[in-house]
Amino acid sequence: METNHNQFTPPIRIVASRRRRRTVAARLRSGVLELLVPDWMPGAERERWAEEMRRRLERRMERARLWGSCTFTMGAIRIATRAASLPEWVIDYLVVHELAHLEHSDHGPAFHELENRYPLTERARGYLMAIDQAAALKA
Ligand SMILES: [Zn+2]
Repeated sequence: METNHNQFTPPIRIVASRRRRRTVAARLRSGVLELLVPDWMPGAERERWAEEMRRRLERRMERARLWGSCTFTMGAIRIATRAASLPEWVIDYLVVHELAHLEHSDHGPAFHELENRYPLTERARGYLMAIDQAAALKA
């Protein structure tokens, strides 16, 4: 079974804020998608935003997927050749990420717990995200 990053269905927590007026924000916190909404926003609209933010994060993760993949049955890990130019500590993160998938197929809390044992996980993620965004701007 190939890791399927397309099925990104984290638990969702909706946080209503009185200070927030018009904008909706989302963040991923230990595997939980937190949606920050203004407290006047009706339930149906909150649900709609939750789905929208989930999809945006999913797309972001599909891009991240281009860097590596793993196969459960074989226990094999592949790292994209374009990753060869990355610093070693970032490649290490890619390997850790894929290794964690051998244990957990999803990106749930248990997966992140495992992945975060590599101390440079957050930095490596930021590094890859910056590269992907730069590439998206050029495209
Ligand atoms: Zn993954």
